[in-house]
Amino acid sequence: MLFDTNKIIIQELNSLGTENIKVSTLRTDLIHPIISGNKWFKLRFYLEEAKRLKCNTIASFGGAYSNHIVALAAACKLNGFNSVGFIRGEWNDSPSLLEAKALGMQLHFISRDAYKYKEVVMEELANKDWFWINEGGYGINGALGAATILRTKDCSAFTHIICACGTGTMLAGLIIGSNENQLVIGVSVLKNNTGLNDLVTALLPPKKNKIFTTLHDYHFGGYAKHPAELIDYMNQLFKREKLPTDIVYTSKLFYAVENLIQQQYFSDNANILLIHSGGLQGNRSLAPGRLIY
Ligand SMILES: *Cc1c(COP(=O)(O)O)cnc(C)c1O
Repeated sequence: MLFDTNKIIIQELNSLGTENIKVSTLRTDLIHPIISGNKWFKLRFYLEEAKRLKCNTIASFGGAYSNHIVALAAACKLNGFNSVGFIRGEWNDSPSLLEAKALGMQLHFISRDAYKYKEVVMEELANKDWFWINEGGYGINGALGAATILRTKDCSAFTHIICACGTGTMLAGLIIGSNENQLVIGVSVLKNNTGLNDLVTALLPPKKNKIFTTLHDYHFGGYAKHPAELIDYMNQLFKREKLPTDIVYTSKLFYAVENLIQQQYFSDNANILLIHSGGLQGNRSLAPGRLIY
């Protein structure tokens, strides 16, 4: 695989910490400009399985702005697979779709109504010998891949591991990959994401009944919503820490943790690790100039 996980660093974030609380981030965004962050980790075991099953085409679903679709297109191209993306809605000139297309992904558009029954689409095409990956990479292989995020660096000294959540696959992986004493917390970027805990639990091995927490007050209006307050925060965080974040996931994660620290949510001596899960290419949908990086 052509990703350099050696590029990952742990960056200390002094402006987020306090006298008693240390905050750092694991920069998985540094592994690749397009397949950044958690998407490659979530895909790695699916690709291996497809190879084992001798499938040479990998198909999946996503929206027009999906990081997962772009990452899949790039990962397939780099690994010699054909890729097929079923996109909710109609063609639009989103940077993600343009990129996926440029990477050789075959794109099909399905109406929002048909999308609700996407299993039917899968079944109709099942004879085609394609390897299917769920939307967002949700699944046990995705979680096992995400568990390996914590093996890229020595993360054993951290008391808290915190990430942004969409499908919850990465959160499940971090729960699997963390040690007994570490508290794992997910910050949902979706509004009314009430099924999240069950989706996460469904990916955990039966014996891994570790307690985890999900937080639901930091979605800023819902998935991909990015009010001016969030953009201001992103610029301000970059000025303070030279840390770029994305509008959909990681900005909400860092904002949440700063806010929680201010509310004294964490106990003294907490040593917090935030997973920078990438997604920076999603910022290209913003008008030029809104971000200072
Ligand atoms: C997809 C994505 C997530 C969410 O991962 P899930 O496993 O779906 O919860 C978080 N951060 C970034 C940057 C992503 O692209």
